[in-house]
Amino acid sequence: MTQEVRVRFAPSPTGFLHIGGLRTALFNWFFARHCGGTFILRIEDTDRERSTEDSIQEILEGFRWLGLDWDELYRQTERQEIYVRYAERLLDEQKVYRCYCTPEELQEMRKRAEAEKRPPGYDGRCRDRKEPLALPFALRIKAPREGSTVIKDLLRGPVTFENSQLDDLIILRSDKTPTYNFAVVVDDVEMRVTHVIRGDDHLANTPRQDLIYRALGWEPPEFAHVSMILGTDKKRLSKRHGATSVQEYRHLGFLPEALINYLIRLGWSHGDQEIFSPAELKKLFGLDSVGTSPAIFDPEKLVWVNAQHMNRLSPQTLIPLLKPFVAEEGLKIPEEDENHLTRVIACLLERSRTLKELAHSIRYFYRSDFGYEEKGAKKFLTAETRPRLQKLRQKFLALTEFSPEAVHAAFQEIVQEEGIKLISVAQPARLAATGGTVSPPITEVLSLLGREETVNRLDRAISHIESGD
Ligand code: GLU
Repeated sequence: MTQEVRVRFAPSPTGFLHIGGLRTALFNWFFARHCGGTFILRIEDTDRERSTEDSIQEILEGFRWLGLDWDELYRQTERQEIYVRYAERLLDEQKVYRCYCTPEELQEMRKRAEAEKRPPGYDGRCRDRKEPLALPFALRIKAPREGSTVIKDLLRGPVTFENSQLDDLIILRSDKTPTYNFAVVVDDVEMRVTHVIRGDDHLANTPRQDLIYRALGWEPPEFAHVSMILGTDKKRLSKRHGATSVQEYRHLGFLPEALINYLIRLGWSHGDQEIFSPAELKKLFGLDSVGTSPAIFDPEKLVWVNAQHMNRLSPQTLIPLLKPFVAEEGLKIPEEDENHLTRVIACLLERSRTLKELAHSIRYFYRSDFGYEEKGAKKFLTAETRPRLQKLRQKFLALTEFSPEAVHAAFQEIVQEEGIKLISVAQPARLAATGGTVSPPITEVLSLLGREETVNRLDRAISHIESGD
């Protein structure tokens, strides 16, 4: 029988959910879902000073938004007794010892090591003390001083660490709180984690954790350390490179499935395919196709991926997603206008790369109080174009219907009658209707605006020309 896959994502809630962290979460989540395994969300909040409830809520909210569910949820602060129990067991078995050194002594020790150019680790002075003292103590694990530890990494193969680099690390502080490495191992053991998939910034911790596993009498799980995400300048991804939090991307109008698609493709591939739905990823994702070279975060590519996903959705599906962005633009679209909104979205979708862009681009359908783009207005709203706009207005009023075809025919008539190019009447009309020089086909835009609104806008542009503004 093959063993059930159990993986965990273990964020420290000390800030926002970072997109690098999310990528680690995705590797775990899709691996679990692909294998029919269990995905554990473990909040590593033992650092009480830096952990915040807001950060925990942001992580959970981010997961919900992304459609990532969890099968089990833990908070390390609720598990203190378990860590103490494990530590006491190791003490009974004499695999750890009481260390009474004060912070001052440890500081002194570090300084001396530095002066003597030795590694700054603990010198083991409490290791062989026989009788317990009536003083506060921490528990330290007895680390081997010779030989080496080999970590088998699924992505990197064997990675060797010299044991001389390890020192007797603390597992339980004098206030009975566990250290990071100890809590991680106890939890991974207790939660029967089979694969630890995490960022390679944790690789240096792995030999220490290996030591704790062995002291507990457990075989370590499989490890897969994925490379960090770097900016296009090859430096570790940070604020300087733009938005780094999941929430920021949400507010910038990215779709969860696009963010997922883009991030999981940083380091994982399936032939040349670029666009994947979450359902496809569940079917296809495996650790065997994860690479180890550093992943470069390219915001332009993310925007492109988002546009691909947006264009896969129907306008009806987009309406509820668009609502917060529409509100942000200060637009009010009554529910009874949703049919019309569907057509507006269909018209603009192809040109929009994010929900925010889409909401911004539809604004002229719902507001007519815009100004005219300066350069365009100078060129196209002139004494020369004024009679054309007037003629267009007359022709529109005479049309029996206001379909794109009928509007097109009206434009063509002017082109013929005046002996001008289409652009010489279409651009003035576009400025009049939208305020700018770029839009979907103007015949579609005008037809969607409707005859009355179009005529009002032509009138407004004509007055603008007349007033010589
Ligand atoms: N809590 C650690 C972090 O947020 C992760 C620990 C682990 O995955 O082993 O970086």
